[in-house]
Amino acid sequence: MDSKRFKMLDEPFTCLICHKKVEPLNYTARDHCPYCLTSIHLDNLPGDRQNPCHGILNPIDIMSKKGEIKIVYKCAKCGEIKVNKMANDDNYDLILKISANKDIN
Ligand SMILES: [Zn+2]
Ligand SMILES: [Zn+2]
Repeated sequence: MDSKRFKMLDEPFTCLICHKKVEPLNYTARDHCPYCLTSIHLDNLPGDRQNPCHGILNPIDIMSKKGEIKIVYKCAKCGEIKVNKMANDDNYDLILKISANKDIN
């Protein structure tokens, strides 16, 4: 296994939406805020930070596949749909709320 094939960036940042300080995840690159679950459209491939869009990715749906929870995002700027894995410390109440409100756009 070549783990250097993808360069994963995992660094602390301040969330642009809720302004909370977000610590690195340490087991994988964190791609969204664990408090408000919002993400920024930065990646083409997970963690590469090569996408020039930089729009806000709003969580619109929750998918559960083989016990793994995934958050579906829609970019407010370019409209692209992205799917990110839920992190260990994500706001689970918010996850439940999103999955209960699938019809909100
Ligand atoms: Zn946030
Ligand atoms: Zn975008």
